[in-house]
Amino acid sequence: MKAEILCVGTELLLGDIVNTNAAFIARELAAAGVPTYHQAVVGDNDGRLRACLDEAFTRADTVILTGGLGPTYDDMTKETVAAYFQREMVLDQPSLDRIVEFFAKRERPMTPNNRKQAMMPRGAVVFPNDNGTAPGLAVTDGERMAILLPGPPREMEPMFTGQVLPYLAARSGQTIRSRTIHIYGVGESAVEDMFRERMEHSSNPTLATYAKEGEVQLRVTALAGTEEQAYALTDPAVREITDILGDAVYGVDVGSLENALVQELRRRGLTAASAESCTGGWIAKRITDIPGASAVFGCGIVSYSDETKEKVLGVRPETLRTHGAVSAETAEEMAEGVRRISGADIGLSTTGVAGPEPSEGKPVGLVYLGVSTAKGTRVFELHLRRGYSTDRNLIRRDAASRAIYEALRICREL
Ligand code: ATP
Repeated sequence: MKAEILCVGTELLLGDIVNTNAAFIARELAAAGVPTYHQAVVGDNDGRLRACLDEAFTRADTVILTGGLGPTYDDMTKETVAAYFQREMVLDQPSLDRIVEFFAKRERPMTPNNRKQAMMPRGAVVFPNDNGTAPGLAVTDGERMAILLPGPPREMEPMFTGQVLPYLAARSGQTIRSRTIHIYGVGESAVEDMFRERMEHSSNPTLATYAKEGEVQLRVTALAGTEEQAYALTDPAVREITDILGDAVYGVDVGSLENALVQELRRRGLTAASAESCTGGWIAKRITDIPGASAVFGCGIVSYSDETKEKVLGVRPETLRTHGAVSAETAEEMAEGVRRISGADIGLSTTGVAGPEPSEGKPVGLVYLGVSTAKGTRVFELHLRRGYSTDRNLIRRDAASRAIYEALRICREL
C-alpha cells in the first residue's frame, strides 16, 4: 500500500489554519509502516479536487482526505469523491440515527442540511464520528481507495487511530499493535540519534519518536497476523530500548508522568504531598487531574510567601534569612515540612526563579526541588533556562515535570 494525504480547505490555503492533520496522519502512517511520498492541500473546489485525485492516484493506491465533510454547501469532498468513482449518494440510516441522537443529546435543533452528512457514496464503509456529526468513510474502486475524514482534529485524530488504522490493517489481513516508551530527560534529537539506524532500517516493528510537552515518546509498532504475534515483535524491541535508555524510561504505555506516578503510588500503597513555590500548584494540578489520585495525594500547598513557608511548613526563619527562599536548604525544609504535616510517604517541594526577572540575585531558571521520605531528603538543583528562553511557563512546567519524575523514581525505591 502507498498512501497520499490530501487536505481540503480554502482556510488552509489562505494560511488561516495550520495543517496539523497532514502532520498527524503522516506520523501515524509512518509508524504503521505505510509509505507516503506526497501531500497536498486544495481549496473547496470540485474541479481542482478532481485534478488532485487524478494526480495522486497515478502514484498511490490510497488517498486520505480531510475536511469538507460538513453540512454546508461549500463542503463538497464527499460528493466530489462519489462522482469521481461514479457512485450515487445514498442515505446511510445508522449515520442519520447517530446525527439525530447527537443533536437530541445536546438539546440543539437539527437543521435539514445535517441530513447531508448521512448521505454516503454507495458501497462506502462508514466510520462513525464519536466527537462530532460528520462520519468518515472509505470508498474503494478496484485497487484505488479514498478515505475521507472530518476536518476538526479532535474528530479526525481519534477516528484515524481508532478506526482507520485498524480498517487498513484488517484489509491486509493483519493487525497493528503499538507500545509507547515514555522517556524523560533526553531530548528528541538525542533519542533519534541513538536509534537512527534502527528507525531507518527496521520495517516491522517500526520506530517513531514523538516530542510531547517536555518529554519524548518512542512508539514501537508492529504489523502481524494476530495481536499476540504483533506484541511478539514489539516487546523484544521495547526491552532492548529500555535497557539502553535506563532510568530515562519512566514507563511503557503509561500515558503521562503524572499517571505513572499515581499508578505506582497506588500499586505500592504509598502517598505523596507537595509544597510548591515557583510551580504555583502545577504539581498538585497535574497529579489531581488523574482519576483515582485522591487515594494517593492528600495535600498540595502553594506556599508562595516566606511567611507561609515559615508558618505553614515550618521552614526556619534563619534558613530563609541566611540562604534565601530560593535555596537548597529552603527546598529541603519545605519538603520535610509538607511530609510532616500531611503524613505522606513522599513530600515534594519546589522553590525557584521562574522569571522574567532574577530574584534574590539568583538567575531565572534556577530551581531547587526537594524530595523527602522517611529515608531522608534529597535536593536537586535545576537550571531550566533553555538557551535564550526565559519563558516563565516553560520553566514552571519543566520544574513540575522533574518533580513528578523524581517522585516516581523515589517511589520505586521505597
Ligand atoms: P465540519 O463538520 O466542522 O464542517 P469538515 O469536515 O467540513 O468539518 P472543514 O469545514 O474543512 O471540515 O474544517 C472544519 C475545521 O476543522 C476548520 O475550521 C479547522 O479548524 C479544522 N481543520 C480542517 N482541516 C484541517 C487541517 N488540515 N488541519 C488542522 N485543522 C483542520
